[in-house]
Amino acid sequence: MVHIAQNINELRTHIPPHVKIVAVSKTKSVTEIREAIGAGQHVFGENKVQELIGKYEQIPEAEWHFVGHLQTNKIKHIVPFIRMIHSADSFRLIEEINNRAGMCNRVIDCLLQIHIAREETKFGMSEDETLELLDTPGLHDMKNIRICGLMGVATFTDNKEAVRGEFRGLANFFRRIKREFFPTEASFCELSMGMSDDYDIAVEEGSTMVRIGSLIFGERVYGTGA
Ligand SMILES: *Cc1c(COP(=O)(O)O)cnc(C)c1O
Repeated sequence: MVHIAQNINELRTHIPPHVKIVAVSKTKSVTEIREAIGAGQHVFGENKVQELIGKYEQIPEAEWHFVGHLQTNKIKHIVPFIRMIHSADSFRLIEEINNRAGMCNRVIDCLLQIHIAREETKFGMSEDETLELLDTPGLHDMKNIRICGLMGVATFTDNKEAVRGEFRGLANFFRRIKREFFPTEASFCELSMGMSDDYDIAVEEGSTMVRIGSLIFGERVYGTGA
């Protein structure tokens, strides 16, 4: 038996109030999400478009974030309601988010996903690709997206110092990007880093948003149709 409300309250005692908790509810049921809402959690993250839409339709009052790899052709399905996309990682994707958001008269908050892990499988841009993206003509004229910061996923490892080094590198890069590209934009202020196994290190290194799944909802079980 997983005590979701208890887990959330316990987590809050370890996370400073200025750090936003995104409860990553992928594979978890609407009933479990409602239990989290009962404990005062209002922000949820999903990584699959179909799953997200199904949950949004049942719980439209929650604040929904997208944290997974996003395909250009699926953007239109989430743009009417999504609050933040943590995983923007190409000009083409950002352009499509901007175009679709314009059709809905919305402005969508986006984070640029940076590749910081040693694993090759993790998504995201290198620092050079990010600088190139930010220099692309037209990017800063897009009216229906707002680039609010950076996101990164650290290497899955027990080596805490390696993880700390990756988060510290991302925090340094965040400050550089802020200084060079968004010096006067107060909205460029979010650093989304830290998951169940490494959120404490991420917070120490300057995270403003932690994305927590299993520590709130329990381990995920895949392949049961859940
Ligand atoms: C699943 C997921 C999380 C949450 O993972 P936990 O280890 O269960 O906290 C965070 N971020 C992303 C991008 C994810 O896909």
